[in-house]
Amino acid sequence: MNPTAHGRFATALNCMDGRVQEPVADFVRQHFGVDFVDMVTSPGIVANLHPGALDAVKLSVEAHDSQGIAVVAHANCIGNPIPEAEQKNQCLGAAQLLTQSWPHLDVAPLWVLAEGTVQIIPQN
Ligand SMILES: [Zn+2]
Repeated sequence: MNPTAHGRFATALNCMDGRVQEPVADFVRQHFGVDFVDMVTSPGIVANLHPGALDAVKLSVEAHDSQGIAVVAHANCIGNPIPEAEQKNQCLGAAQLLTQSWPHLDVAPLWVLAEGTVQIIPQN
């Protein structure tokens, strides 16, 4: 199968929160220059990078030839109600783990502000 015949994909590990779906999809399409974003969601995903989520990333990378991975934390997260700085550290840790599993892909740790702006979390 030629994946380019069907568009280019990236992968996002995102919270299930409805407020962040479109901002993250828009940002990830632009950031990786792709047509589609495979969205792997669960509540506060950076606090719980569970095996089911990693299986979904694997499927996206292998079957859709994903061009990059984003991992997302956000303001006012009901699934991970801890301070912003701690969420960001979890997100950076999750990004490191994803980089270890898929070293050929760029992994972008993202933070979504309350009004929907998406930022790349700077590495420590
Ligand atoms: Zn959330």
